[in-house]
Amino acid sequence: MHPKLLTFSLLFFFLARASAQTAVDSALIRRLADTILTDGKAYGNLKVLTKTVGARLSGSAGFYKAETWGQAALKDAQAEKVWMQECMVPHWVRGGKDSASFTGLADGKTVVKGDTGATFTKVMFMDRLDILALGNSVGTGPAGVRAPVVLIHDFDELERRKNEIKGKIVFYNYKFNPLFIETFKAYSDAVRYRALGPSRAAKYGAVAVLVRTMGESVDNNPHTGALMYNDSLPKIPAAAVGLRDADWLAAMLEDSDMVKVYLRTNAQMLPDTVAHNIIGELKGSEFPDQYITVGGHLDSWDPAEGAQDDGAGCVQSIEVLRALKAIGYKPKHTIRVVLFANEENGGRGGKKYAEAAKEAKETHLLALESDAGGFTPRAFSLALSDAQLANIKPWLQLLQPYGVYEFQKGGGGSDVSPLGPQLGAVVGELLPDSQRYFDLHHSRADVLENVNKRELELGAVNMAALIYLVDNYGFGK
Ligand SMILES: [Zn+2]
Repeated sequence: MHPKLLTFSLLFFFLARASAQTAVDSALIRRLADTILTDGKAYGNLKVLTKTVGARLSGSAGFYKAETWGQAALKDAQAEKVWMQECMVPHWVRGGKDSASFTGLADGKTVVKGDTGATFTKVMFMDRLDILALGNSVGTGPAGVRAPVVLIHDFDELERRKNEIKGKIVFYNYKFNPLFIETFKAYSDAVRYRALGPSRAAKYGAVAVLVRTMGESVDNNPHTGALMYNDSLPKIPAAAVGLRDADWLAAMLEDSDMVKVYLRTNAQMLPDTVAHNIIGELKGSEFPDQYITVGGHLDSWDPAEGAQDDGAGCVQSIEVLRALKAIGYKPKHTIRVVLFANEENGGRGGKKYAEAAKEAKETHLLALESDAGGFTPRAFSLALSDAQLANIKPWLQLLQPYGVYEFQKGGGGSDVSPLGPQLGAVVGELLPDSQRYFDLHHSRADVLENVNKRELELGAVNMAALIYLVDNYGFGK
């Protein structure tokens, strides 16, 4: 045979083999999708988690109920082994209903006349504010805190006005930037006012902090979330204000004199307590000592049911295992589902899992997280080199029918991230559509009714498909 012909026929052989393999992969992914979309347990599991367990902040009674639920759900999904991994977690309690109101003097020009016909130039007003104390915050004590308010738009303004802060309540009214198309970017940009704002205000003598909710929803729900005190500064109470109230309070502060806020919160941080990561496993047939982890976090904020954050990620991860098992797939590597114990106010579950993996000298190929809501899947973010991203690009044609059309160079969420530097695992996360997530996140609206069954399932389909592909081909060099 002419050498050129030989080259052509070899090329043809490889192309034919590759397309045959693609057909095999496509058929297997179709079977995963079929079982998830027709016989899936993700939504049913989420219903039980949200409606019978409900809120489950680390250390709360709800969390321990969720531990029991997680083990049962993994066993039901036919995990071959299910166990609890102990870790110490912070134990913060809200301690009752948070309340706030404000008073002030407004220009009375628009309400000039009383019944007597007298003219008022200033009128007294009072209104309630809907607030939620921030996670990890201290409470005000039973007497509450009443003080004048300083409206602060950003940290630069705080520095410029640091001499006006003493004895006041600082109100950070930093807005979600609508120019970020991916709302997680707006969140990353704004969340420092919640996380760091209280201590930065305490540094200049503030007595409490109010922070505009991180979101763009048109309702008035305040969104809680963790703050991080600087231990060298006084710990002052802090709470989130819903967006309509934030706008109202800001307008009053701009137009009025003597605006004072009264707030009462009952929160306290109790000593650390024991909780558990809940883990389920399918043993690998060829490389049992090499792991692919998929997970979400079991803990959730107390005002609602933690349906999107992160019940969705938990049930999707369990569904990956269930679907692989249900179609009779035998993974080459060991597949582990991890329901992490403490993402919201400490990140201790993810740290513990990585520490234990390191101690056991485990090899981890991939640690995939779903913690961006159970919305329509769009992409995966993966901590890969450019060459590896190029290797896996052909997989997109297999995922596109189910929604994922892009691999982004990035990384994982906070629970799987410690596996990256510590163990050299590729970390990653599912990136669903992000437009509605921050309407619900950490608020009273994060309930089952705001999860779409089909979107939730499609996320699980793409996660299962990615894990199947990594199990078979890895990422290459
Ligand atoms: Zn979350």
